[in-house]
Amino acid sequence: MDSQPSPTKSADIQNSIHANKNLRVGVIGGGIGGLMSACLLASDGYQVHLFEKNSELGGKMGEFNDKGFRFDTGPSLLTMPFLLEKFFHSCGRSIEDVLELVPVEPICRYNYPDGTQFDCYENDAQTLKEIDRIAPQDYSAYQHFLTYISKLYHKTADAFLYNPLDSLSDLKGLNIRSFFAIDAFQSVSSVIDKKFESEYLRLFFKRFTTYNGSSPYQAPGTLNVIPHVELNIGGFYIKGGMRRLVDQLIELATQLGVVFHTHSDVHKIVTEKYGSKRIIRGLELTNSNPKPSHHLSTDSKDQTNSLTFDCDIVVSNSDAYETYQKLLERKDQSFFNHLQTVKSEPSCSGFVLLLGLNRTYPQLKHHNIYFSSDYEDEFTDIFQNKVLPKDPTIYIANTSYTDLEHAPANSSNLFILVNAPYLTKEQELKEKDSYAETVINQLELKGLTDLRKHIVVQEVRSPYYFYEQYRSNKGSIYGSSSNGLLSAFLRPRNRTKGINGLYHTGGSVHPGGGIPLVLQSAFNVQQLIHRHHKQS
Ligand SMILES: Cc1cc2nc3c(=O)[nH]c(=O)nc-3n(C[C@H](O)[C@H](O)[C@H](O)COP(=O)(O)OP(=O)(O)OC[C@H]3O[C@@H](n4cnc5c(N)ncnc54)[C@H](O)[C@@H]3O)c2cc1C
Repeated sequence: MDSQPSPTKSADIQNSIHANKNLRVGVIGGGIGGLMSACLLASDGYQVHLFEKNSELGGKMGEFNDKGFRFDTGPSLLTMPFLLEKFFHSCGRSIEDVLELVPVEPICRYNYPDGTQFDCYENDAQTLKEIDRIAPQDYSAYQHFLTYISKLYHKTADAFLYNPLDSLSDLKGLNIRSFFAIDAFQSVSSVIDKKFESEYLRLFFKRFTTYNGSSPYQAPGTLNVIPHVELNIGGFYIKGGMRRLVDQLIELATQLGVVFHTHSDVHKIVTEKYGSKRIIRGLELTNSNPKPSHHLSTDSKDQTNSLTFDCDIVVSNSDAYETYQKLLERKDQSFFNHLQTVKSEPSCSGFVLLLGLNRTYPQLKHHNIYFSSDYEDEFTDIFQNKVLPKDPTIYIANTSYTDLEHAPANSSNLFILVNAPYLTKEQELKEKDSYAETVINQLELKGLTDLRKHIVVQEVRSPYYFYEQYRSNKGSIYGSSSNGLLSAFLRPRNRTKGINGLYHTGGSVHPGGGIPLVLQSAFNVQQLIHRHHKQS
């Protein structure tokens, strides 16, 4: 099907869409980064082919169904929805027509080791009432902190987040003074300890650093911008399940003419010398598609052979480590790209337990947190000792609280996530089953009485699963960690400078992991292709 140009595009862009029709783009990987980039480029008129090694598209934003229970297996919270609005608008659609974003109330229920509960709401007045109850000494500090993090966001967003940091001109304005202004020289934890007296609020705010898989004791204080996006802008759920976003991306890409090739494992990005530069020639891949599904098509008649795909531009949604270390020949990697991918520390991984229960627990809301008794110790286990925490903080998403049809009547679907170390050895955890038992025991002790007796569906997703299934570097779930002052600058960028036509999208490249940042990486790729790959 031909791409449908967006009705909102200017005449100038319409002309370039016409010119782009001769250029072929190969996207490696059908995670949300690959799907979003494919849509944006198809809507700009490129011929886009997307290659995914698995049978399913969507990558980590997966779904699991069993015995009438439905689970999202990846993201459970959407922040910065205006980026998704901008995305659908750029592709000539309206978000309201395809997705229903709903705030959940309370945003999250926090349970502390001493039994104290704290509900955080969309509505500030309700949250302040809760703070007055559990931490009256920090009532004003909370309000001041919301203002502080809002200012932090406004100081950093254009400089780091919405900036591809690709050329020297993108870096202008960044100097040592700007780093002091954004508390980059102290940790998230030390900033928070200075602002709050109550241990409840300290833990509450430190937890947000885990949204990008980092430790609040190591990440720069600048990462306190994360609570801004949830508390000042809002945290959302996608009605029907988070996976609905993937369904809509697939539908949109199909309408825009993207050709999908699932079961297609890319093993090489082929380049060639052109004058003094290297340029993209195409991809080498293995296609093992038994039979293309009704909305997927393949170029190949011979469906098990090694194939080559010629293209002018490659957008890799594969993890940056995988792209640089495995898909490119050593001669194609610059010393800096090599070092960047080998040396940068991955984000934490996750230990996921999906439980279908034949009962509900009235104390569980949609999002729930059970804090460990020593938060700092937990991060020492994860990032220094690299072992599963003995006493983990446990997150539960209970989507059947909002979407009753996600579980049979009087039942519930619990997605349980514990932060876990990234892999040091590429193998399955020996203690996978016993750790699931540890988590279940902890939850029983924390008030989910007789939990074990009510389990009718149980499924584990370990760090090794994330490595094997999606080829995430060492099983990390948010790309590289932000556990250091320079981590934002060490994260691989959205364009490889030494190879004309090679771009990168997804959670392992700039600006980072999580739905909104992955989407921003797709916008960056679109912008950089526009900047560097003009049709002559
Ligand atoms: C348990 C969990 C909870 C999370 N919670 C949240 C949350 O609440 N909110 C939030 O915003 N984010 C959350 N995230 C993070 C979010 O899911 C990721 O940042 C995002 O989905 C990453 O998308 P991606 O496209 O970069 O990568 P991926 O989803 O990893 O997609 C990459 C794709 O490329 C394919 N691929 C790799 N190599 C090749 C190759 N050589 N050839 C062909 N195909 C290849 C892979 O199979 C995969 O499908 C969570 C993640 C996890 C795992």
